[in-house]
Amino acid sequence: MPAPIYLDHAATTPVREEVFEAMKPFFGPRFGNPSSTHRWGREARAALDEARERVARCLGARADEVCFTSCGTESDNLAILGVWREARTSGRNAIVSSPIEHKAILGAVHEAKAEGAEERMLDVDKSGTVTRESWERDVQGDVAICSVMWVNNEIGTIQPVPVLSDYSKSKGVVFHTDAVQAFGKVKIDAASQSFDLLSISGHKIGAPKGVGALFIRRGTKLQPLMHGGMQDRGRRPGTENVAYAVALATAAELTLAEQDKECSRLRAMRDRLETAIVAAVPDAVVHGRDAERAPHVLNVSVPGTDSESLLMVLDLQGIAASGGSACQSGSVSPSHVLSAIGVRPALASAALRMSLGALTTDEAIDRVATVFPALVNKARQFAQAS
Ligand code: PLP
Repeated sequence: MPAPIYLDHAATTPVREEVFEAMKPFFGPRFGNPSSTHRWGREARAALDEARERVARCLGARADEVCFTSCGTESDNLAILGVWREARTSGRNAIVSSPIEHKAILGAVHEAKAEGAEERMLDVDKSGTVTRESWERDVQGDVAICSVMWVNNEIGTIQPVPVLSDYSKSKGVVFHTDAVQAFGKVKIDAASQSFDLLSISGHKIGAPKGVGALFIRRGTKLQPLMHGGMQDRGRRPGTENVAYAVALATAAELTLAEQDKECSRLRAMRDRLETAIVAAVPDAVVHGRDAERAPHVLNVSVPGTDSESLLMVLDLQGIAASGGSACQSGSVSPSHVLSAIGVRPALASAALRMSLGALTTDEAIDRVATVFPALVNKARQFAQAS
């Protein structure tokens, strides 16, 4: 049996060796609580402050603009609910977002709606990009926050975040972007770009699951989600996870240092795989193909199959992929992202997401490309039989 092939880096990535080494001491002798005033505490505080500065540098931000969180989901929730709950007190009650956001955003927007917010969803064109006409329609003076993701996790499309952010600012609207899939794939610089808030997550870039950060531009007002101590200026109470903050800082630095080279490597492999698949399976439909796309995602539907059958035949060959976003696996309804860009249900439920990353090699791509046509035939048989 050939070595297994992991093509699910958009779901999660392995923890990098350097990251593991950097955080290890904080599970051992450097265990202090950063709020303690004794030497153990001071040591932990110094490590936390340094990690915050390092993450800030990676974002073009200042240290006090970085808030560590438990994950990308928490960063997204803090941005949406924190800003909206604060802004509604001054009459801004609407939230603008898009139907292709991750559930971390959509769930927070729906919660705000249940609490009385007005929800406005931008239009997304067939290529998977939010449209200018819809943001000119929806981003008005009564909006508390506009939140649009930078890179879509299912189809990889890059949203025009710098332009939309500038537009929102011109209307006096706070702008947030979920950059969980974008960090290390597009240029992010808080010093020259106008977004007010930006979410990242550690486990997509070689840090462990369970750590994220929210960039909060100085002067942006938001209410905390949790109540307790005064950690992180009261924005995020709870004893800080120093080990994971150090892990995130280390992973972020390594990712940025390699960004240009790694993006070219991934793009070349993704494009090669895509070309091979389309040549071998001419009726395959590549989602987001006509839009600008991040280099690590390939989402393709194979008519006459379904995602479950495709994943099963790939798995039997030791190839791991995803039917949509991992957070939705187990649910049989077609992806909300594909539905939003107008993909008909039968095609949407035959979607396969392959996402490339550090573990992906040319040899792996060659093997997947070689076995793909035969696997499609098998998946079609399975789909017909079921
Ligand atoms: N936003 C996007 C675009 C994602 O892809 C993910 C994870 O899949 C998240 C948010 C949630 O991040 P986390 O898993 O750290 O909560």
